[in-house]
Amino acid sequence: MMDFAGLIAKGEGQTTEFKKSLSSRREALEALCAMVNADCAKGTVLFGVAPDGTVCGVESGNLDTAQRSLSQAINQGFDPPLRSEIQVTEFEGKQLIVLTAERPRSVPYHEYGGRAWIRQGSEKRQLTLSEKDQIRRSRDRAFHPGPWKCDRCGSWVVQLISVTMTKDGMKKNYDCSCGGQFWPCT
Ligand SMILES: [Zn+2]
Repeated sequence: MMDFAGLIAKGEGQTTEFKKSLSSRREALEALCAMVNADCAKGTVLFGVAPDGTVCGVESGNLDTAQRSLSQAINQGFDPPLRSEIQVTEFEGKQLIVLTAERPRSVPYHEYGGRAWIRQGSEKRQLTLSEKDQIRRSRDRAFHPGPWKCDRCGSWVVQLISVTMTKDGMKKNYDCSCGGQFWPCT
């Protein structure tokens, strides 16, 4: 169970965005995109809370339909697909819609509506081409030159020498002998 009182009291920030109404859906999803693309790789949008933290609740109406159309917008708008969760909750007698998402390590960045956003504090901006390139080099294992660190045993290697043949050709092998996986060491 999320600590809503704490979350609202803390205000908007690197991983939290407030939206008073569901009509700001596009801005909300851009903000979510910007949050998951930052290094912390996760974000929460609270619908029904004003930017100053006032709990106003979402428009009364069909919340099932609202949830479904939000989830549809996420499925259609994000590339690669975004792992997200939507829940309806009651807080101080008002209905809130809580949208949370996380970027898996295997995704360097997500785009929403064809644009890649990044968040700094509570502000967002679009990634430039050279930033996208730099992010790909530091987060995408196919582009990363090393060194590497295992996410399980913590062992560290300068180069991955083992490769696997797949139907798409030669692929670096990221498996560590301990059962973990090698990821870019940053
Ligand atoms: Zn290992």
